[in-house]
This record gives sequence, structure tokens and C-alpha cells, in this order.
Amino acid sequence: MTTSPERLRPCPICGKPRVPDFAPFCSPRCRDRDLLRWLDEGYTIPGPPADRPDGDEDRDRDDT
Ligand SMILES: [Zn+2]
Repeated sequence: MTTSPERLRPCPICGKPRVPDFAPFCSPRCRDRDLLRWLDEGYTIPGPPADRPDGDEDRDRDDT
């Protein structure tokens, strides 16, 4: 039988094995990162989603 390994999924931020304490992330850092990303997108002006590769947020303002 195949049970969906929900708890075995890696951290959606960095892909490392998740830690139960911070599930579904692997660390508070990744959790914060996800939160910040969420907030950032929430505060960003509505428009077409930039073609930013998921992961790098430090360089999302290269077009002035
Ligand atoms: Zn992580």
C-alpha cells in the first residue's frame, strides 16, 4: 500500500528534511522565510508575478 508520506516531505523552502518542531519546515529560519515571502507578496503591488525563481529573495528588485 502506498501512504502519502505527508510527514516525510522535505522543507518547502530549502528542501531539507523537515523537523517536527518546525513542520512543515526544517528550521525557524525557513519558517520565517516563508512568512516573510508571504508578507512580501502580500504587500507587493498587484501585478503579474515576477519570474523570480523560488528561493532567491535577495535579488527581486533588479528592475528599477
Ligand atoms: Zn528549510
